[in-house]
Formats: sequence, C-alpha cells, structure tokens
Amino acid sequence: MKYWGYLVAKSIVAAVLIYALWRMLWAVMPEPGYMVFQQTRRFGQDLWWTSAILVLWLLSAALIYLIIWDQRRRCRTCLRRLRMPVETGSWKNLLLIGPPRTEYICPYGHGTLSVPELHITGMESPDWQPHEDIWAELYGTEETRK
Ligand SMILES: [Zn+2]
Repeated sequence: MKYWGYLVAKSIVAAVLIYALWRMLWAVMPEPGYMVFQQTRRFGQDLWWTSAILVLWLLSAALIYLIIWDQRRRCRTCLRRLRMPVETGSWKNLLLIGPPRTEYICPYGHGTLSVPELHITGMESPDWQPHEDIWAELYGTEETRK
C-alpha cells in the first residue's frame, strides 16, 4: 500500500507540475489576435506554439518515464532505492547457468529484485522476492556451517 501510495503521490506531483507548465505557457505565449478573430486552433498553425507544445510533451513523457523507472527500483516495503546490483546468469552459457539477470537488494533486507536482461518473448517484468530479514537468513546459514 505504501509502495502504490508513493507512486500515486509522485504522479500527482508530476501532474501538478505539468499543469503549471501548461498554464505558464499560456501566460508567456498569449494567443495572437488574428487567431482569435478567425477562430482557428494554434496547434499546427503557429510554429512557436507548436514547438512549445512539443517540448512540453517531451518533458511530460520524460517525467512519466523517470517516475516509473524510479518506482521499479524501490523496495516494496520501505521505499528505499535498491542497491548492490549483482549480475547472475550468463550470455554464453544461457542454457547451463541461466539467462542473464541483475539482482538488487534492499539495504535493510526486505527483499530482492531480479531484473531479466534477456527479453525473448517480449518485455518480462522484474521479479520481487520478499524476505522477512535477509541478514538473519545469511547469519543463519553461517551458524549452520559451524
Ligand atoms: Zn526495504
């Protein structure tokens, strides 16, 4: 719930920012008088307005991309950025070792995220594996070795 709430909060902030830029664009570039008189749309008729809309659209798309990219690399429990990327698998020995993946872990041990590098049948979604306490699991394995 916290994970999705953070995504919604970021999306709302981005929507407010894009709307503010849109309103600022109208304030900075008022509609020319001849367009009001002829009742034509500015988009496609006025080069500067069309260029400004293109830049606003590109900024909006980049902002949405960054929000989604950032959200995918966050812990599902504590929302901290996932760290310590480790590459697993092999490109050369695909069938023996497995497909190449990059695994990230939460620094507080809430879980691991496995991101596939090989996309044969389309875009595969990353696999999140929650852990109760990954550090306790690691210390537990050391104690059983002794
Ligand atoms: Zn975490």
